[in-house]
Amino acid sequence: MKTTCQVAVIGGGVVGCSVLYHLTKLGWSDVMLLERSELTSGSTWHAAGGFHTLNGDTNMAALQGYTIRLYKELEEITGMSCGLHHVGGITLADNQDRFDMLLAERAKHRFMGLETEIVGPDEIKKIAPITNTDGIIGALYDPLDGHLDPSGTTHAYAKAAKMGGATIETHCMVRETNQRPDGTWDVVTDKGTIHAEHIVNAGGLWAREVGAMAGIYFPLHPMEHQYLVTDNIPEIEAIIDAGGEHPHVMDPAGESYLRQEGRGLCIGFYEQPCKPWAVDGTPWEFGHELLPDDFDKITDSIEFAYRRFPVLAEAGVKSVIHGPFTFAPDGNPLVGPVPGVRNYWSACGVMAGFSQGGGVGLTLAQWMIEGEPERDVFAMDVARFGDWITPGYTRPKVIENYQKRFSVAYPNEELPAARPNRTTPMYDIFSDLGAVWGQQYGLEVPNYFAQEGEPTYETPSFRRSDAFAATGREVRAVREGVGINEVHNFGKYLVTGPRARAWLDRIMAGRIPAPGRLSLTPMLSPKGKLIGDFTVSCLGEEEFQLTASYGAQNFHMRWFQQHQQDGVTVENISDKRNGFQIAGPKAREVLAACTREDVSDMRFMDVRRMVVGMTDCIVQRVSYTGDLGFEIYCDPMAQRQLWWTLWQAGQPHGVVPFGMRAMMSLRLDKFFGSWMREFSPDYTPAETGLDRFIAFNKPADFIGRAAAEAERATGPARRLVAFEVDADDADVNAYEPIWLDGKVVGFCTSGGYSHHTGKSIAMGFLPTDRIADGLQVEIEILGQMRKARVLSTPPFDADGARMRG
Ligand SMILES: Cc1cc2nc3c(=O)[nH]c(=O)nc-3n(C[C@H](O)[C@H](O)[C@H](O)COP(=O)(O)OP(=O)(O)OC[C@H]3O[C@@H](n4cnc5c(N)ncnc54)[C@H](O)[C@@H]3O)c2cc1C
Repeated sequence: MKTTCQVAVIGGGVVGCSVLYHLTKLGWSDVMLLERSELTSGSTWHAAGGFHTLNGDTNMAALQGYTIRLYKELEEITGMSCGLHHVGGITLADNQDRFDMLLAERAKHRFMGLETEIVGPDEIKKIAPITNTDGIIGALYDPLDGHLDPSGTTHAYAKAAKMGGATIETHCMVRETNQRPDGTWDVVTDKGTIHAEHIVNAGGLWAREVGAMAGIYFPLHPMEHQYLVTDNIPEIEAIIDAGGEHPHVMDPAGESYLRQEGRGLCIGFYEQPCKPWAVDGTPWEFGHELLPDDFDKITDSIEFAYRRFPVLAEAGVKSVIHGPFTFAPDGNPLVGPVPGVRNYWSACGVMAGFSQGGGVGLTLAQWMIEGEPERDVFAMDVARFGDWITPGYTRPKVIENYQKRFSVAYPNEELPAARPNRTTPMYDIFSDLGAVWGQQYGLEVPNYFAQEGEPTYETPSFRRSDAFAATGREVRAVREGVGINEVHNFGKYLVTGPRARAWLDRIMAGRIPAPGRLSLTPMLSPKGKLIGDFTVSCLGEEEFQLTASYGAQNFHMRWFQQHQQDGVTVENISDKRNGFQIAGPKAREVLAACTREDVSDMRFMDVRRMVVGMTDCIVQRVSYTGDLGFEIYCDPMAQRQLWWTLWQAGQPHGVVPFGMRAMMSLRLDKFFGSWMREFSPDYTPAETGLDRFIAFNKPADFIGRAAAEAERATGPARRLVAFEVDADDADVNAYEPIWLDGKVVGFCTSGGYSHHTGKSIAMGFLPTDRIADGLQVEIEILGQMRKARVLSTPPFDADGARMRG
């Protein structure tokens, strides 16, 4: 056995083999896969082998599309068969909400180049004749859906990897992973120790145990899952005899997926009485056995399936496959460099290995070899969960995710499991004020504050929700007087030390401010993609506070750690420094009433330390509402005291607490972009307009400089613009296609209702050469074409008089 390699991939399931193949495909051949038994000895061998592109996240859907198209390539390279059946598939909708979701998905597919189609009941009958369409409104048809042979496909990946120079050691159990001081790894196996520069954990069912060898907790959990294979069914035999093949049918109402298997059918269920498996760890001796049949938990699902597919009621059961596979709390894989651990990579938590395995392998290989993936993969980045995550949190979330696998996913939906989890000192005070809570990165965040007669639960919807009136009331309170909310959901970092400024000048593309001032700056990857959108506050020559998205904490800390330098310390203080934002025309009067400092001369983008009431605070004059406003930071131990100070001072001005729904409406008045909507690693500064914050004239060679300069020279092919939309009861959410002259020319990034201006506002990308003020386009919202106009001037405070005054 080899004793050194560049990469040791642990695990020979479909995911490990795909990672191995992609590493060789992108040019690394000194790579090795270690499998404790035979290939496919985990979840992989009992998979139903189905694949599909449908995924709520567009980039995940694109990677699923990549995976599916890859199988042909694998067959060609290796001469092996993946047992492909591209039979197409339909996803049924039995109510308007579900149909709305499919319409929204279809719309997204237009600019992704996916040839899906919305079909009605008659068409469904033709495509999938065994379906009882009673109560069905329509379906989404995807010609790419199909199934394959899980074992054959995994072996094809393995062969293609070997052809590219990779080595595979089976019956080679990894027992320990020990890091050397230089960041490389000793991988201790039954067959000896391998010195590897990098480790990839593709341990599947055992990914938790493999992670624990390096002291890493991976938030995933195995769930039991069952599908049945029937005896021959005459109706299916007739289709086969006529030269056809029955397509896949996903029936979300019945929580089932169905496809042809041999001359019968195979049907699997995501049942509500589901069961987590191996709660305290996956036994090492598990692997080639199935779990005992468990019909009790799928009785209701089977009865439902008999009504939807009556041929099943007559069919005998030939075999039952009941096995475990792993899920992360949100159902997406855990991929990428593990934060805080050098040269350790994750490729686990992949619950749909045959839809996603290719995309996971490609992404990881790009990340390892090229330094960054080609697209925004935050939806599956292992860094999307924080250090606060525990098995006690993961398990209920995984159960919830399994149960909701086929549920309608609404844009405004707040999932209830494992909540409240993390709360700030304001939780009970805000609850008493009527807070209706959402959560972000495990933290409870008020969406709005329900007053008498307003709903205390926001009904999930694709259309304007029943929180519309409450949101409008809070927006008006801010614009007409003063509103207050908490700054708990900002990611906050303290950068200190003699080299702090020089380090920031290299990490951030923008200007680093002088003491007492703030600046806004993009953070770029080497390829010039947006990986952060920061406010930098200079509290002293060697002390800076950074603020950015709360949900990106681990993502950003990983980047900071990867670029750490002597003479600078970066600390994540997101939960150690908290406070409030006050915003609106009366905000200055409220602050003035709470401090003996003179705040009348505090300019827009100033930052000062001052005592507010009796609390030491950092006060900065800036507000994401686009209004006159102040962010006031303090020690969370003093936060409640600060609250009472500001709250009492605000009473004469009618201060009103406001939540995230109002905040997201207010920012639309000024066309302010938002992280992971307008700003993400999919986009560049020039495309999004953030290039105006790049300090091209600073001497520092900031990361991404060459790419940003090159783009400045050519200009971007597309740009972010804002639109006023003639919406009805549904505003833009995300990824709606933008039509011009009968063609899809762009897509939306976000949108909503601007309560202050009474307009439906959207933001999205258009080809640069088509952009003109007032340009008329159409935006497809839930299957309806809505007229929209490009706006070049924000409808509120266009000259900034209010914000800067
Ligand atoms: C009943 C059922 C039906 C399914 N149907 C589908 C489907 O239709 N479509 C779909 O896409 N997905 C389906 N899945 C899910 C699919 O099986 C998984 O997504 C996929 O197999 C995950 O592959 P993996 O490589 O991550 O993990 P695994 O297959 O679990 O592979 C992990 C490998 O790592 C090895 N390993 C672990 N620890 C060590 C160690 N210490 N040293 C060396 N080797 C080690 C194991 O032996 C194993 O071979 C189904 C799953 C089940 C259970």
